[in-house]
Amino acid sequence: MSKIQILFLGAPGSGKGTQSEKITEEFHVVQISTGDMLREAVKNGTELGIIAKAFMDEGSLVTDDIIIKMMKERLQAIDCQKGFILDGFPRTVTQATALDTMLQTSLECCLTHVISLEVPDEPIIERLSGRRISPLTGKAYHVKFNPPAVNGMSEDGKTPLIHRDDDKSETIIKRLEVFHSQADMLKNYYKPSGKLHIVDGSKDPAAVYEDIRKILS
Ligand code: ADP
Ligand code: ADP
Repeated sequence: MSKIQILFLGAPGSGKGTQSEKITEEFHVVQISTGDMLREAVKNGTELGIIAKAFMDEGSLVTDDIIIKMMKERLQAIDCQKGFILDGFPRTVTQATALDTMLQTSLECCLTHVISLEVPDEPIIERLSGRRISPLTGKAYHVKFNPPAVNGMSEDGKTPLIHRDDDKSETIIKRLEVFHSQADMLKNYYKPSGKLHIVDGSKDPAAVYEDIRKILS
């Protein structure tokens, strides 16, 4: 199969990370999550992390210039040459335009699939408020839909799962508003390319993955 370079569009909690994990296992491509990169920078107290934290805590987008600079560096890394999944970037048309330039200059190529995972707001709120993250693997669990083997614990059975600060109620609503303010513009940006695929993300994770596999193969 030829190299895949996927972009996931979709609300926070639509299942981008969950589906990316399945794709990376089967297709051996790297997942690039701007949210994970930013959280790592916050954890390490870097200059980028200190600036980004204020935006993330209130559920707003980090400014385009910061994100574009971070992604320019990331896409130049050698592991991207085998193919990749972009999860959480671009989130604005300005970022999308910058991505096109980056792909043409550093990887001499373009996206192969743009997958929009669509889920209504109500289940999204339930997914985000019940999401718990393993600090060991970064994997997302859910208190009801995808509970860990040992209640509240990561894969080793003793390290507590994390409830992200921005997965708490007021910030969830704000993040959904921010998402809806950009979603149509982004989809319209990718429509003419013929690479945009709409996927019903409200099915169970295995069924969603089957739909994605059909698109990729
Ligand atoms: P995103 O990366 O888009 O923010 P995640 O993959 O982290 O979303 O999923 C958000 C939460 O919803 C997680 O707790 C995850 O376990 C759960 N989840 C993911 N996909 C589904 C699904 N199809 N049905 C129910 N819950 C799901
Ligand atoms: P989710 O898992 O809910 O989809 P992310 O982990 O992708 O959320 O993002 C968490 C936060 O990080 C966002 O609310 C935003 O503040 C910031 N962020 C992540 N990616 C971007 C981006 N491409 N542009 C601007 N801000 C971003």
